[in-house]
Amino acid sequence: EDLLIWLKQRGTPIAVRLVKGAYWDTETVLAMQRDWPIPVWQSKQSSDANFEKLSRTLLNNNDLVMPAFASHNIRSLTHAVTYAEHLGLSKRDFELQTLYGMGEEFKEAFVKRGYLVREYAPVGELIPGMGYLVRRLLENTSNEGFVRKSLHDKTDPETLLAIPEFDPADSAVAYIESRAKGAFHNEPLLDFSSSNVRSDVAAAVTSLRAKKKPTLVAPIVSGAEIVTEQEIPSVSPEDPELNLARVFLADVSHCQAAVTDLNDYFGEWSKTSVKERAGLLRRVANVLREKRLQFIAAAVLEAGKPWLEADGDVAEAIDFLDYYAMEAERICITVSTGNFPGEQNTYFYEPRGVTLVISPWNFPIAIPCGMFAAALVTGNTAILKPAEQTSLCASLLFNAFLEAGMPPRAAAFLPGIGEEIGSYLAKHEHISTIVFTGSRQVGMELIRTGASHPSLHVKRVIAEMGGKNAIIIDDDAELDEAVKGVLYSAFGFQGQKCSACSRLIVVGENYERILERISEGVRSLTIAAPSDPRCFVGPVIDEAARDKIMRAIDNAKKDCVLLAEGDVPDNLNGYFVPPTIFAGIPKGHAILREELFGPVLAITHVATFDDAISAALDSEYALTGGVFSRSPSNITTAARAFNVGNLYINRACTGALVGRQPFGGARMSGVGSKAGGPDYLSQFLIPRTATENTMRRGFVPEL
Ligand code: NAD
Repeated sequence: EDLLIWLKQRGTPIAVRLVKGAYWDTETVLAMQRDWPIPVWQSKQSSDANFEKLSRTLLNNNDLVMPAFASHNIRSLTHAVTYAEHLGLSKRDFELQTLYGMGEEFKEAFVKRGYLVREYAPVGELIPGMGYLVRRLLENTSNEGFVRKSLHDKTDPETLLAIPEFDPADSAVAYIESRAKGAFHNEPLLDFSSSNVRSDVAAAVTSLRAKKKPTLVAPIVSGAEIVTEQEIPSVSPEDPELNLARVFLADVSHCQAAVTDLNDYFGEWSKTSVKERAGLLRRVANVLREKRLQFIAAAVLEAGKPWLEADGDVAEAIDFLDYYAMEAERICITVSTGNFPGEQNTYFYEPRGVTLVISPWNFPIAIPCGMFAAALVTGNTAILKPAEQTSLCASLLFNAFLEAGMPPRAAAFLPGIGEEIGSYLAKHEHISTIVFTGSRQVGMELIRTGASHPSLHVKRVIAEMGGKNAIIIDDDAELDEAVKGVLYSAFGFQGQKCSACSRLIVVGENYERILERISEGVRSLTIAAPSDPRCFVGPVIDEAARDKIMRAIDNAKKDCVLLAEGDVPDNLNGYFVPPTIFAGIPKGHAILREELFGPVLAITHVATFDDAISAALDSEYALTGGVFSRSPSNITTAARAFNVGNLYINRACTGALVGRQPFGGARMSGVGSKAGGPDYLSQFLIPRTATENTMRRGFVPEL
């Protein structure tokens, strides 16, 4: 209908090719994965009925379109032909299209009767062409397909040619509705192909940008906001002149007051039922859903996240809330263990005490949300100490917890300087758990602090740290997919994800082709302000980050081959770093070893797949990794030998989903169990057992 309106305005007809079934699987699976309504009919008869309906629409508008009916279903084609005749159209007013080598008999019959029949065939490269033909063969020989039913199954003509009716059970949301209630499902991402969604996000970003005064972000202790003496601005990486928030910094005295009160209140909070605490998380999830646009806008402007990434951040935060609510209800119960006559054993958990949550800026909503929610739902009181750069996002999050009914004394919000208050709090005698995500340097320091400053317990430090992640492209990899996956993994959100790919290892003879394609790809990435929806590569977080990355690029230019460097448009005044790729890198060069946290990719060339695995593992980190290969044996080898925390095969190496790809690394990338996974919450708890001798004067009650 939209097309017809446009054609009326345009005044010149165009050809429209009507097909059905093409990419049906892809459309269906992608929608299911994203939890979106499925945009294609699920039953064959509905597809057929819709094809006929659209055939009539096209023919009715013959003055605006030249319809082409592409099918191997005689009923569908005959319907179009008959309807055209019924309208009095000529045989030249439309055409029929069939695949070369398929349906020869009926093709001939149509040609004999004077209809225009176009045969089509893939042209170009052999391998993709074969891939196309195989897909078409699979479609046409599927159990539902007309070709199979007529030629192979010999279905009787009456049935084959019957009028197709829409199946009333066929609905775009049937799949979503059919899923088990109460089970965990990832929060669907927004569908930015909808213009309403785009205009809503644009409006939210514009409104935050247009705020006359910066938002006040202040420490919150026992529910009371404290306007402190020291403040720093929170500026936007895309426009350092845009001051989004005045961040009032907590100092040591506020920290002391907060820990004392949280320690006092711990006894009460730890006794609440898990049902109550899980209920709180679910209500917070709903607040985030309601305020999703506001959160997206804050992540776009304060963290410099492109729209899609900002939405992913909010969706992941919601996932953590729902998932940990469910997990807490699973774990925080008392179970009997190995009962024997005359003895009753119970196994249960208790919370550890005041938990210090220290978060990074790169997932300014999801990461603090996950760590903070995990601490609270397991019955601990908690301090949220966010990264300085994204204090506004964190304050929105903390307020969402308060709005959802978190008791004000269960947690404190302490924005402040990491080296000062983070370090002070970590040593505090009443902090029993430190949960940290950030750089290796700070993480290791916190681990040392934990060991040397015990509280009532030995401090537990859960530290998720950096990465230097590699993707391997095997010599038989599907290059289109590989290039796309590498570009997204390396340059999405400017390479500032801990999971981002910063090393690419190419096996064998495709090396030159890959260099060429990736270089072209880098030059075509849109560098823009994240508030602009076209943005693929935005600015890095702040001036210090930009200077550090630019220095590393300048150094690498001295010893490596600069393959490509994106062009940052002159009109951008944020902290932009051009996406950059290097090859010809000397062994052991810093660019292969040190985490840069920016849009820089180092490419190396190896002879065999085994060499590639060795090169990939030649790192102190082990967070994520990727492999693009079509070889089943290499894929099996990689799954076993490429032992990073999260390995991705034939897809990008970023974008882990809560519950589906629990996230976290080993070696210098982390010591904690995976966030968003089944082992995570137990780290916030102390397991206990109680054993009772139930034998009394020779009498043993029944088990
Ligand atoms: P960062 O280590 O500089 O800061 C993280 C937090 O630590 C901030 O809140 C900061 O204020 C605080 N901090 C700084 N010094 C401190 C000190 N001495 N004592 C206590 N707290 C202190 O990291 P960042 O720049 O915010 O984040 C980027 C880093 O985070 C990268 O290395 C990235 O790989 C890592 N990261 C890891 C994961 C993961 O899951 N493994 C996820 C996201 C980010």
